[in-house]
Amino acid sequence: MTKNSNPEPVSKPRTVEQLVAGKPTSDGAGVQLTRVLTQQLQRRLDPFLMLDAFGSDNPDDYIAGFPDHPHRGFETITYMIAGRMLHRDSAGHEGLLSNGGVQWMTAGSGVIHSEIPQQEAGVMEGFQLWLNLPGRDKMCAPWYRDFAAADLPRFVTAGGVAATLIAGTSHGVMGAVTRAATAPLYLDLHLPAGTRFTQSLPATHNAFIYVYRGAVNVAGKTVPAQRMAILANESQTDGVEIEAAEEAQVLLIAGQPLHEPIVQHGPFVMNTEQEINQAIDDFRSGRLGAAA
Ligand code: MN
Repeated sequence: MTKNSNPEPVSKPRTVEQLVAGKPTSDGAGVQLTRVLTQQLQRRLDPFLMLDAFGSDNPDDYIAGFPDHPHRGFETITYMIAGRMLHRDSAGHEGLLSNGGVQWMTAGSGVIHSEIPQQEAGVMEGFQLWLNLPGRDKMCAPWYRDFAAADLPRFVTAGGVAATLIAGTSHGVMGAVTRAATAPLYLDLHLPAGTRFTQSLPATHNAFIYVYRGAVNVAGKTVPAQRMAILANESQTDGVEIEAAEEAQVLLIAGQPLHEPIVQHGPFVMNTEQEINQAIDDFRSGRLGAAA
């Protein structure tokens, strides 16, 4: 993997505002998952709307998958740590998402899609993040891209931390996707024991980490596995410092808030009730996701 000695200086790191355990829930046709970023945190973590973590070696927990369902008004980013899932949608996209791969889907004006496991045994583990679109882009044309693990930008810091860059820029390296309105940063970090990773962040951007292996320390606070740490937006802070006493794997996610009204009805996220009613009506009448 590419060595990267570009600095990412942070002089006043953020503290941890809150640890969040998430809520066990079931979605799709009965997939067991943990909703880490729930609806009540949407305002606090604007522009992010949801983070689901799924991980099981019991096929009963995932086999049913997510049959045909609609989305409108935002983007979904699925990061597969282990397992295989087939995506098909009404815009004509099809892709097999597998170990270490990312699927970035901009639902925009609407897609109907399915996400179906392509395995009957073994581990299925990954994350789905929902990123909001600004009001002016909510009815944009759908967009979709699959990134195999080998297509994702990666580097190893001088200190030995391996970073995969799904979105945004870190240590001078640009991630797979950039978005002007929300400036999302989405990093997967593998920290060997005794290492430290720094990332500069504008103080106004909302940011959190999710630890999925091991434990880390952020500004003196331990963040254990299966916990999200919301990073405080103290003024004059310029980034985050993540320290690992033991080996750890962590998602670091940040973005520029949109400061717009958020109205969600299931798979539709718009700015107003009227737009939600329109989405429901368009879906029922077969207009949502229909070929233009
Ligand atoms: Mn979906």
